[in-house]
Amino acid sequence: MDHIHQPFDQPLNPYAEWDAPMFRLAQEQFLRAAKIMNLDENLRDRLLFPQRALLVSFPSRRDDYSEVETVFGYRVQHVLTMGPTKGGIRYHEDVNLGEVSALAMWMTWKCALMELPFGGAKGGVRINPTLLSRAELQRLTRRYTMEIISMIGPEKDIPAPDMGTNEQIMSWIMDTYSQQVGHAVPSIVTGKPVVLGGSLGRAEATGRGLVYLIVEVAEFLNLDLKHSTAVVQGFGNVGANAARFLEENDVQIIGVSDVFGGLCNPKGLSVRALQQYVEQHGSLDGCSLGDRISNQELLELECDILVPASLQNQITADNAERIKCKILAEGANGPTTLEADEILDRRGIFVLPDILANAGGVTVSYFEWVQGTQNIMWTLERINDRLHEILIKAFKKTLLRSQRDKINMRTAALIEGIDRVAAAKLSRGLFP
Ligand code: NAD
Repeated sequence: MDHIHQPFDQPLNPYAEWDAPMFRLAQEQFLRAAKIMNLDENLRDRLLFPQRALLVSFPSRRDDYSEVETVFGYRVQHVLTMGPTKGGIRYHEDVNLGEVSALAMWMTWKCALMELPFGGAKGGVRINPTLLSRAELQRLTRRYTMEIISMIGPEKDIPAPDMGTNEQIMSWIMDTYSQQVGHAVPSIVTGKPVVLGGSLGRAEATGRGLVYLIVEVAEFLNLDLKHSTAVVQGFGNVGANAARFLEENDVQIIGVSDVFGGLCNPKGLSVRALQQYVEQHGSLDGCSLGDRISNQELLELECDILVPASLQNQITADNAERIKCKILAEGANGPTTLEADEILDRRGIFVLPDILANAGGVTVSYFEWVQGTQNIMWTLERINDRLHEILIKAFKKTLLRSQRDKINMRTAALIEGIDRVAAAKLSRGLFP
């Protein structure tokens, strides 16, 4: 960090309030890409930190009315240059400012790589949503929305679901915002139910997009998907949909997991049966459709396609040597560390990096926002066709740059995104 300009002679820890392993990962990935592309130093230092961040603490009352917890919430906007900012809201017990900032930075590169008119943002609340009742979750969501209301807006910053949040939470955010301004504002969020102006295809867009890209990679690698196997870590929105679309492409799903652990069956698991189990029981806990294994064992199963679709920091220097897939398709954000990247590169594993692999979600969120602001409705066919077109274009330009400049797919994808943001910053110039 010695390149950061220090205005005073006193020592300064440039990480200070942002410090978190995930933010260091996001910054280090960015700095490596910036070095390769010879990014102007002034631009580099501007892009290294979010432009705006809001940290709030607020009371959250439990159902028995005797307990009031103090809860921390965040909203971070990384780049305000490209248009409104866009990014999901995460409910997780470990969320902190650094993590949300890393996710916001990745959103910037992801939107730019897809050529969407958004800068990156992200939000989070540090709670475990699975421990709250529906009423508690609703109160907490409405209060969090009020706390960040000055920062969000359909032309300013548009939230969406991420880990631990869903359509229902988007509805409460939309309702709270609309109550405040006095009329319905559907485009304040994306990923809301279709009856409230949500887009067809948004709920499954991240998983669907991931599989569009896997099909493209398989073709590039001459891998016959009909005789391929896949393992999916995380069986929520991204993981369950990715498993479903992989199965539709005749890929055999031999392992899945969630926070309670994994299940494997070398003869194949039925995604429909797994989904039915989760609908009835809320999770895969206790499911006997396969043999029980740990999440760590699951990641090391021999397969053609491995899809991490839960938390960050899953493929590390500790297990990268034992990962036995041909394609690593990152449904999650930040699942692979820098050290692991080097090992995977050396071992010739094809990595579909997060900012490309899981960009289907924000792309259909963009369609939802466009439909909302113009009061029009697109068909599912049109949405899926356009999604496919945008993702494959981004994949092709990333692959081309990766081959031409002899860099890995992650760095190539980052450079494509950073390049676009840097050009926009230069065209707008400095104020004043
Ligand atoms: P989700 O809350 O719907 O599902 C998360 C899943 O991960 C659940 O099955 C949960 O049990 C499991 N999980 C949690 N902790 C785990 C652990 N320690 N080990 C194994 N599994 C664990 O979340 P989601 O929306 O599917 O998001 C998953 C990832 O995908 C996140 O990294 C998120 O940022 C990323 N992502 C989501 C979207 C989207 O549209 N929802 C878009 C892009 C990226």
